[in-house]
Amino acid sequence: MVLCHECDLPHAFEAVPRGRKAKCARCSAHLYGAMTDELDRPLALAVAGMILFLVANMFIFMTFEMEGREQANSLVSGSIEFWRAGYWELALLVFLSSVFLPFCSLALMLYLLVPLRLGITPVWAARVLRWVVSLRPWAMMEVYMLGALVAIVKLTDFADITLEPGFYAFVALILVLSATNAALHPEALWQRVSAGRATGQEAVDAQTVVGCHACGHVLPGNLEAHGQNCPRCDAAMHHRKPESLTRTWAVLIAAAIFYVPANIYPIMTVISFGQGTPDTILSGVIHLIEANQWPIAILVFFASVFVPILKIGILGFLLISVQIGSNWRPRERTAAYRVTEFIGRWSMIDIFMISILVALVKLDAVATIEAGPGAVAFAAVVILTMVSAMSFDPRLIWDQVEDSHG
Ligand SMILES: [Zn+2]
Ligand SMILES: [Zn+2]
Repeated sequence: MVLCHECDLPHAFEAVPRGRKAKCARCSAHLYGAMTDELDRPLALAVAGMILFLVANMFIFMTFEMEGREQANSLVSGSIEFWRAGYWELALLVFLSSVFLPFCSLALMLYLLVPLRLGITPVWAARVLRWVVSLRPWAMMEVYMLGALVAIVKLTDFADITLEPGFYAFVALILVLSATNAALHPEALWQRVSAGRATGQEAVDAQTVVGCHACGHVLPGNLEAHGQNCPRCDAAMHHRKPESLTRTWAVLIAAAIFYVPANIYPIMTVISFGQGTPDTILSGVIHLIEANQWPIAILVFFASVFVPILKIGILGFLLISVQIGSNWRPRERTAAYRVTEFIGRWSMIDIFMISILVALVKLDAVATIEAGPGAVAFAAVVILTMVSAMSFDPRLIWDQVEDSHG
């Protein structure tokens, strides 16, 4: 039996052919893909990914040349510059999301796949697989790539930018990483790594069942009978995410408050020949329009202005609709929730762009770019809206529907 992780509807498991996926019959959430538990492809891709990761981090990323002076940066330079300027929050965030967590994700995959390929189940296999899955939204290399693109567009008008080997390795790494994620089917691997710990998909007949939110394992009966942790992946099991409404509200309100300073204060200051011009999120978009960079302007406007408002609006609406017990269009509301989960991380584009600019443009009085306090507030908005979306439990939408229809 498989429980839909978004509306809790039970489905009988049925294998699907490669390249197809099983969707929930009620809310059309993605349930599982083809259960091909082949290891060769994800393993080969993860090894390639690790090599590219090392190359991307060891070599120079870009070189910036202006007035006969040159400045090079690497992937970690932005974090170091933030740290030096006293913005430790941004330093930590950029380092974690663009270097450390992608590395962890690859290292954990190798830890899992190499022994499995050799026929050995590594220690903590199920727990490690759970970490691999839950790390995915926080490793933001492809978002970093777009941030780099915006930074290049902003600089090409008045300086020469040369892309270095580290940059090309990084582009290849992003392609390999997305192929790895597509080749790795956690649904199939769960069976393999849980051998001996839990009896896979048991035939469950009971009226009440509880599904593990991390690995999808289904157990009959109520939680008291099983204790609090999933027997397969060891995650804490809950009928619904605990205190979902209260937590989501708290984090969402915090995000909405940070949205104000994020837009009022400058996110960066461009100092050129001693003259400083502070840039807010909106003035950055306007500069791009003035430079006739329409596609990039639309991209930045969408990611930095529109997406945060959209997320705060949708989550607020979902919270209120659940609290007043509405059973209006549950399918569409679940789809709206899925959108907020998917688009949240793309707002990091501006933060990554600033991290590249501060590391490249530091030619003292000639040209220097410094981060501004608005960037810290904006980073807080992105992270808080992501956490808020994760703490909302979409199954609450369907509880109302079940209550009213029996
Ligand atoms: Zn569903
Ligand atoms: Zn589990």
